[in-house]
Amino acid sequence: MTQVHVIGGGLAGSEAAWQLAEAGVKVRLSEMRGSGEMTPAHQTDGLAELVCSNSFRSDDAEKNAVGLLHQEMRKLNSIVMGEGDKARLPAGSALAVDRDHFSQGVTQALAEHPLVEIVRERVDQLPDSGPVIVATGPLTAMSLAESIGAATGEDSLAFFDAIAPIVYRESINMDIAWMQSRWDKVGPEGDGKDYINCPMNRDQYEAFIQGLLDGEKTEFKQWEKDTPYFEGCMPIEVMASRGPETLRFGPMKPVGLTNAHTGESAYAVVQLRQDNALGTLWNMVGFQTKLKYGAQSELLRSIPGLEKAEFARMGGLHRNTFINAPKLLDNQLRLKKAPHIRFAGQITGCEGYVESAAVGLMVGRMVAAEVKGEIFTEPPQTTAFGALLSHITGGADASDYQPMNVNFGLFPPMEVRVKKKFRKEAYTHRAREDFSAWQNHTLAESEPA
Ligand code: FAD
Repeated sequence: MTQVHVIGGGLAGSEAAWQLAEAGVKVRLSEMRGSGEMTPAHQTDGLAELVCSNSFRSDDAEKNAVGLLHQEMRKLNSIVMGEGDKARLPAGSALAVDRDHFSQGVTQALAEHPLVEIVRERVDQLPDSGPVIVATGPLTAMSLAESIGAATGEDSLAFFDAIAPIVYRESINMDIAWMQSRWDKVGPEGDGKDYINCPMNRDQYEAFIQGLLDGEKTEFKQWEKDTPYFEGCMPIEVMASRGPETLRFGPMKPVGLTNAHTGESAYAVVQLRQDNALGTLWNMVGFQTKLKYGAQSELLRSIPGLEKAEFARMGGLHRNTFINAPKLLDNQLRLKKAPHIRFAGQITGCEGYVESAAVGLMVGRMVAAEVKGEIFTEPPQTTAFGALLSHITGGADASDYQPMNVNFGLFPPMEVRVKKKFRKEAYTHRAREDFSAWQNHTLAESEPA
């Protein structure tokens, strides 16, 4: 029986391996963590480790593109969504998870699957024969990145992601901070009080912005200079440098929140979201930073409520590697120059945990169909899956290819004119119908005659 080689046991590789195995195809899953190797962001040997936020973002499938993608993934037996749902934490309408339970769940399910062999090894060269799925992520080991560069004739692009700090709950002063979800939104696990909020008045906010601008930053290495930021994960000091109000309209926006101690609205608010099931660790929402650790803790402790904050993890800076997918890959994510190799996950230039897993899911299904001699039809672009895949495999401009979250901008416009306020529901309604039709058609094609 053909064995598919999946390289990288992150979000995408784990999902691809699961889909293959569930389709009855044997898998060798190579993961370098656990063999004495580590990336600059991972901290454990667990498969599908979440390296920064513990959130899969919005779970709203009516009005949000990533929520719609969650729904489509659940319909396709996604292990990431399955284990994510099991490890769910209160976070309003977002799907946040206990990162350890989540990773342990994925690791155990794959380890126990009779068709999956997990090998702890670093792969340094693209294999000469396949089928192979490369899912080594934004922190692909340099040796393999060089091999990919040699095979594609393209230099891998490198730029940065920044990690948000994590604070111990007991070190937060709740005489100043308070619990509330924005607009008191109640999620499936919550009570409308899922976030810790730290208020700032105008003077405190302005001093904080100045501190961000003046604070000592991590120096770039020569090869890292002049590289563009990952828009979705932009450091707060970079946002501050774009204008004094940028943060107040971004992660520090005060709208929908009322100080429970004073009954007043704050000028700006810093929010923290629960990061583990015990509720002992809280993540500073949107507070990615490349300030040096000393300057960082000093400045963060100037936030009311965080005067005595103890940090489980400081913010940090990391490399991101991805290929020019629209140029290099065909519509089934095969490397045009070496079609036995497919790419999946963030290395294809999608952005985010959910998107990486989603691309892994689809690529796993594509390879499973190939191994079994079946025809694979890609999901239509009107679905969240289709919109994301279309972007990667040709929808994007190859001359300026940038990582992208799934969003309604990737969906084809509605055939009929829909008022702006109903447009999101129109997209998701159409997506659900088209997804069901595609899924029924796909099932019919894979059934024996
Ligand atoms: P990964 O999950 O990184 O998996 C790749 C795996 O391949 C790793 O386990 C790695 O050890 C392994 N590997 C690498 N090279 C080799 C090799 N040569 N041989 C064998 N194994 C190898 N997305 C979000 O949605 N929210 C966030 O908050 C967020 N924060 C991020 C913070 C940082 C610092 C970075 C780098 C990325 C962040 N991302 C975030 C983006 C992205 O969604 C995640 O990186 C996601 O984990 C990508 O999934 P993946 O499967 O493509 O890669």
